[in-house]
Amino acid sequence: MRHALGIFIAALAVLGPLHAPAVAKDKIRVVTTIPDLKALTEEVGGDLVDVESLARGTQNAHELEIRPSLMLKLRRADLLVENGLELDSWAEVAVQGANNPKIVRGAPGRIDASRGVQVLDVPAARVDRSMGDVHPLGNPHYSLDPGQAPIITQNIVDGLARLAPDQRAVFEKNRGAFLARLSDAMTRWTRALEPLRGAKVVVYHPQWIYVLNRFGLVQAAALEDRPGIPASPAHLTRVIRQMKEERIKVLIVEPWNDVKLATRVADEAGAKAVVLASMVGGVKGTDSYIAALDHNVNALAQALR
Ligand SMILES: [Zn+2]
Repeated sequence: MRHALGIFIAALAVLGPLHAPAVAKDKIRVVTTIPDLKALTEEVGGDLVDVESLARGTQNAHELEIRPSLMLKLRRADLLVENGLELDSWAEVAVQGANNPKIVRGAPGRIDASRGVQVLDVPAARVDRSMGDVHPLGNPHYSLDPGQAPIITQNIVDGLARLAPDQRAVFEKNRGAFLARLSDAMTRWTRALEPLRGAKVVVYHPQWIYVLNRFGLVQAAALEDRPGIPASPAHLTRVIRQMKEERIKVLIVEPWNDVKLATRVADEAGAKAVVLASMVGGVKGTDSYIAALDHNVNALAQALR
């Protein structure tokens, strides 16, 4: 990998800017690590930004293969919006390969979207990735909780306004309009899930706690022994028993995870495996932030009924 990276960087130096695709000169070029942040940056930036995401909605955002194409995107970026909390620490490797001083850590063109988020599931004892745990700083999957959108979009506005101070009012106005639409949608989602308040669900990867808490649903168990660690047969047996005993009807599974195993576990427990959009674009028809939540809320409400 390191060797390939070296060759690639050398190739970049030779090719220079020839291969940079055309983007209108006056637009701020933003790269985000995950599509949720792309969707939110587009809401806030409107016509003033051109946004690309490194990860796609169907991918496992913890582990992204750093391809040369990703480094090219970063090389020409004015701004990098990252999720933080070590979900997307792979981006650091790509940034180093991209050799773009505008987006290195600490530069004005770097935004950590998690700044100000109240982090859940923070481990009581120190853990790190060498133990296989992919949530060492707490649960990093806050972005599709609509209650976090005001914080995330404020971080994005602040970052964009550092690069284009004259446009701050435009970004603020776009943000206000988006949050108003989100608030209308929130009324709809709350109404759909209100009758199911207190219902227990099992999750495959512990990715859903923010949004479950938001709507008063309860995570009873996770299939993974620890975040990112595959379920052991003994743990699966325990979870199936628990699902039967507590009459849990729903097992939430992420599009990038082992949907077959989830379906098998759900079948054995007399429950239903429900694939939710773990990120914007994770499931067909979820190409905007609100569309992804519409899908998730409707699928949950239907399966829990
Ligand atoms: Zn995770």
